[in-house]
Amino acid sequence: MNNANSDVDIAIVGAGLVGTPLANVLSAQGWSVALLDANTRTTNAGQPQAQNAQTPDLNQRCTALSLGTRLWLESQNLWNTIADDACPISQVHVSHKGYFGSTRLNADELNADAVGYVVNNQTVNDQLVLGLSATSVQHVTGMRVNNIHVEDDGVRVYFGDTSLKARLLIAADGVSSTTRQSVGIQTHQVDYEQSAFLGTVQLEREHDNIAYERFTSSGPLALLPRPAKTMSFVDCVEPDERESIQSLSDDAYLQRLQQRFGYRLGDFRRVGPRIAVPLVRIEAATQVAERTVLLGNAMRLLHPVGGQGYNLAMRDVAQLCRSLQPLNEHDSSARDPGSAELLQQFSNTRKRDQQQVVQFTDTLARGFRGKASLPAHVRALGLLSLDTLSPLRKQFAQRTMGLG
Ligand SMILES: Cc1cc2nc3c(=O)[nH]c(=O)nc-3n(C[C@H](O)[C@H](O)[C@H](O)COP(=O)(O)OP(=O)(O)OC[C@H]3O[C@@H](n4cnc5c(N)ncnc54)[C@H](O)[C@@H]3O)c2cc1C
Repeated sequence: MNNANSDVDIAIVGAGLVGTPLANVLSAQGWSVALLDANTRTTNAGQPQAQNAQTPDLNQRCTALSLGTRLWLESQNLWNTIADDACPISQVHVSHKGYFGSTRLNADELNADAVGYVVNNQTVNDQLVLGLSATSVQHVTGMRVNNIHVEDDGVRVYFGDTSLKARLLIAADGVSSTTRQSVGIQTHQVDYEQSAFLGTVQLEREHDNIAYERFTSSGPLALLPRPAKTMSFVDCVEPDERESIQSLSDDAYLQRLQQRFGYRLGDFRRVGPRIAVPLVRIEAATQVAERTVLLGNAMRLLHPVGGQGYNLAMRDVAQLCRSLQPLNEHDSSARDPGSAELLQQFSNTRKRDQQQVVQFTDTLARGFRGKASLPAHVRALGLLSLDTLSPLRKQFAQRTMGLG
């Protein structure tokens, strides 16, 4: 559907990986939902994906989903729509360049089929958007939300030359959220003084579904398994290296990546297009305001180390859906989804997990770097002790699986 013609219980701005599944679940709960997105996407959903060793897709942007995210998607009947693309992680291998020792987290040891799953963001989003056609969600595409006006009994959302009114507004419109700015919520930014190159590399050998997190003095290097002997990488570099690395030819970059990672996976064969992103943490001052909730990157952008950002966001989504769960079939018309008490309770419930994940991510992002303080190094190295399930290693296991 491409026009919103009526007022709704809940308006969600942003049909990304956070807003789309949320719209689906809230609609299934009986709320009337409008999902607004600036993009007009041409989806490849439903088309067979040509992914084999001869024609691997080296132009994918990927995200690691935790086991916790999978279980929640499954409980909402959304996992089956994306399962075909999800590449299971059977083991996470963590090491620190220049130090002996490494630690491994095995799915078996954790009594799970997989520690997590790596998905292609575009494919998964396309599938989730396609799934909306079986719901009553008013899905408006190609319309940028340009203003918000909060009234006593609802929020008026302006897009194109029209508007709609909702009792609850959910901002899932990404890190530069217009919605967040329109309702006057400030942000706080921490600069890690690093950049990351993102891309996909083709291997000579099978990766056996092992994900690698390798800490080096210039920051972490993550390799995540994808089909057809490919791996998605996040390669963190110091700021003074960024320009010279950006200007490398594909072959020279491939060689550099190989040197940084080593030969545990054999020869790296080819690398796809890479992009550079600055590494910052951006957090909104508050998650809720009058009749408004911030979710996903609109609420918080994290350092990508440990693959926490999306999974934390999905735990927010899961809790918001629980808070909005109608008590009976007539409840969604009687209950106010934007009530201040409901939103405050939601926000209070989520604070502890959010603080712990931010602290955990910060430890990993700073702990192993050349400039880190001695205690930070000691703490980070505790992660690599193989003999015991140290508290940090246990936390790493729980956090990686999204069950913390
Ligand atoms: C380098 C990197 C690697 C990462 N890896 C992982 C990982 O392995 N695991 C993990 O858990 N997380 C990871 N993350 C985090 C993850 O990518 C984010 O949590 C997730 O993409 C957030 O999705 P979102 O829907 O909030 O925002 P977005 O994906 O940015 O979607 C926002 C949507 O809003 C729309 N929009 C924007 N403005 C407007 C407007 N004014 N009006 C209408 N629509 C609008 C856009 O078109 C878009 O569709 C990573 C992040 C980075 C930076």
